[in-house]
Amino acid sequence: SKEKGGNSYHYYYPDMNKRSLHRLNLEIHLRKALERNEFRVFYQPIVDLNNGKIFGMESLVRWHHPEWGIISPGEFIPLAEETGLIVPIGNWVLKQACRQNKEWQSLGHAPLCVSVNISAIQFHQPSFVHYVEQTLLETGLEPRLLCLEITENVAMTNVSYIMDTMNKLRTLGVSISIDDFGTGYSSFSYLKRFRVHTLKIDQSFIRDVTSDEENAAIVTALIAMSRKLKIKSLAEGVETREQLDFLISQGCNEIQGYVFSKPMPAPDFELMIRENKQL
Ligand code: C2E
Ligand code: CA
Ligand code: CA
Ligand code: CA
Repeated sequence: SKEKGGNSYHYYYPDMNKRSLHRLNLEIHLRKALERNEFRVFYQPIVDLNNGKIFGMESLVRWHHPEWGIISPGEFIPLAEETGLIVPIGNWVLKQACRQNKEWQSLGHAPLCVSVNISAIQFHQPSFVHYVEQTLLETGLEPRLLCLEITENVAMTNVSYIMDTMNKLRTLGVSISIDDFGTGYSSFSYLKRFRVHTLKIDQSFIRDVTSDEENAAIVTALIAMSRKLKIKSLAEGVETREQLDFLISQGCNEIQGYVFSKPMPAPDFELMIRENKQL
């Protein structure tokens, strides 16, 4: 079988180049990672600029392979999406994040809103809304404390189906963010039609917002537009005090980034909220 490991791949796949060998190897291990309990969820605080307090956190998956160490999502999410493995992985992250958020609340911490990344493939599963509903029931998390992050490419196809799914999610009481805003292809009109709660301004616009006039203009416009549409604006990848000051001056609602904290394992995140860290 293919699973004998090591050099046996060379025997079975003589024409394979190094790259596809690496990919195949990764895929074989990725398939087993869930049952082997190799995934971890890290949490990165999202800060409310109105009061400097932690409003919530984004769940970011990591793969802890016993030999290879920590593998970042950038390295395996694309493959997980190609192979469909993103559905069970994403569902696991969703449940884990809801469970963890409920646990922190049970410990007496102020209610936080947990964000979970939902890949387009996951969002388009016919059972998706039901899975979200079941997860909320099972974990006992209040729906208003869950936010789903979807990217613009979710919205590219089958608008009526997406509207329907969004409406069902809204009826459940969960909120929705548009992630990486400005990097995709969707029309601005979708923002209003889908009635999303938060617009996450992609970090590529934030990176040199204090040195690049065009990026500054884009960020200013996105924040102003969000305000007019009554959608919250959230800037991602905020690393410096200068970027932060700029965003505050423009009236941005929330930020996320190294200027406040990196993503971290659950116990470290709990310490942070225990200490009541503020901006
Ligand atoms: P994303 O959803 O845009 O997540 C934000 C990324 O920016 C995270 O990378 C985070 O660690 C990083 N980041 C946060 N603050 C800063 C900062 O100040 N500076 C810089 N340079 N980077 C910052 P990460 O954790 O490596 O995740 C990468 C991407 O992988 C995510 O981008 C998301 O698209 C995907 N991803 C992560 N977890 C999941 C998941 O559970 N499901 C799905 N479908 N995708 C996920
Ligand atoms: Ca995200
Ligand atoms: Ca993002
Ligand atoms: Ca991104």
